[in-house]
Amino acid sequence: MKCPFCGHSETQVVETRVSEDGDFIRRRRQCHSCEKRFTTYERPDVTFPAIVKKDGRRIEYERVKLRASMNLALRKRPVSTEQIDSAVERIEEKLLSLGVRELPSNRIGELVMRELKKLDKVAYVRFASVYRSFEDIDEFKTLVDEVRR
Ligand SMILES: [Zn+2]
Repeated sequence: MKCPFCGHSETQVVETRVSEDGDFIRRRRQCHSCEKRFTTYERPDVTFPAIVKKDGRRIEYERVKLRASMNLALRKRPVSTEQIDSAVERIEEKLLSLGVRELPSNRIGELVMRELKKLDKVAYVRFASVYRSFEDIDEFKTLVDEVRR
């Protein structure tokens, strides 16, 4: 990496340290020419796709929101925090692995439903009924029948 002071192309890492919470690496480098020191930070490249809402608006992915909607569906259900955490992680891994810049909100909704279905059938039905905004009781019944099978 080039020296930011003199532009010399050879610099050396003199110290490497992992941040306290482990989410980045801090490196002290020294220029071979002017001998000045500078710091670089290395972080994982985690950019979630932007979420495209039904009305075309783009919003940023937020874990808090995802978690909140799952918590609502899982309210008073016998599912541990750890289980929800792992589900959120799997959803996020999937989001990152898609390698796309944008994703329609219904795709995320489907990922959430897939996880909820494995965690708790009641939560799944709750989430799906809100998410798919059923118009009548028959649609709801179809979903419940589907879960029963
Ligand atoms: Zn230099």
